Amino acid sequence: MTDKKFAPASLAAQAMGWIDPVTRAVVPPIHMASTYLRDEDNSYSSGRIYARADNPTFDQAEATLAALEGGPKALIFSSGMSAASACFLALSPGDHVVAPKVMYWALRAWLAGFATHWGLKVDFVDADRTDAIAAAVRPGSTKLVWIETPANPTWILTDIAAAADIAHRAGALLAVDSTVATPVLSRPIEFGADIVMHSATKYLNGHSDLIAGALMGARDDAYWAKLRTIRGQLGTILGQTEAWLLMRGMRTLYPRVQWACRSAQTLAERFAANPMIAEVLYPGLPSFAGHDVARRQMAGGFGGMLSVRVKGGERAAIATAARVELWKRATSLGGVESLIEHRASIEGPGTPCPPDLLRLSVGVEETSDLYDDLDDALRRAHNA
Ligand code: PLP
Repeated sequence: MTDKKFAPASLAAQAMGWIDPVTRAVVPPIHMASTYLRDEDNSYSSGRIYARADNPTFDQAEATLAALEGGPKALIFSSGMSAASACFLALSPGDHVVAPKVMYWALRAWLAGFATHWGLKVDFVDADRTDAIAAAVRPGSTKLVWIETPANPTWILTDIAAAADIAHRAGALLAVDSTVATPVLSRPIEFGADIVMHSATKYLNGHSDLIAGALMGARDDAYWAKLRTIRGQLGTILGQTEAWLLMRGMRTLYPRVQWACRSAQTLAERFAANPMIAEVLYPGLPSFAGHDVARRQMAGGFGGMLSVRVKGGERAAIATAARVELWKRATSLGGVESLIEHRASIEGPGTPCPPDLLRLSVGVEETSDLYDDLDDALRRAHNA
């Protein structure tokens, strides 16, 4: 594309406007090669040596992601977990990090287990409270503040600009798991974040058919170079076919997320008035605790994720999930098909997730079908 300033939705739809210089194809090929030819003068003029470090099939996806998040660089990984864990492995044993109590449960478990064992000192805080983050950082020894906003599965908000300010004053970086917000709704680098992470398995791909992760950096600096080295050394790269599928999915990121936001807002408002629901957790509801923060740092909608707390407790919640037809009972989120999950069952002992909570990932089906299906399941569980 030329230097003209196109909107992110246009850049995503056309994968940065890439056209194959030889065939004029509008869709890039998949490069299967695992190795590249060395020149006769013993150099690698192509800039590529071996595909554990990178692959031309990544180029479109990484360039598009960097443009959407407003950072100079992006790296795609074999999973959200490998992208996230690289941010911590790029630190040194003995370093201190601050992370939220409410966050993606498998990463929290990895931080409390492997990362702590490896030598990181980890403090978990109530990240919806800026004062709690400020009290936890240790100037000089805190190297990374990790936040997730909105955070799984209660969707509490962290003020990104305030967290960035606290982290930077302490000499630390701020990394944001922005999987749920997506670049459509929030661009954390604009609020001062140093690193943005996505489970690209979710909205970026959008079709529940691959596992992938992504990091975007505000600067191409020594920390960023370490992240790239870790990916190359551990081989946590995405397969070529998956990288191609990820780019294919990202072309429709904007319309998918915009539809899901509208639908989730309507469902949140309707379920808030449903007599079988005790509480709806959704950043788009004015009554939600983090609503004001969400309004400041999310634009165009409040996301496709919400949770409902079912009257009748855990049994009623599980019985409701058992009776849906259109919603699919499965973990994960961000796909075109709507998913429902009794979250405490998968997070297990020690979860901060209330036992009566059902997590809803809103897809692109007709909103009224989604409401009626869940309302019917609630009614049948209630009368069982
Ligand atoms: N972050 C969030 C918010 C997630 O929901 C998930 C997965 O559910 C991850 C990170 C981990 O991503 P992946 O499953 O792609 O490793």
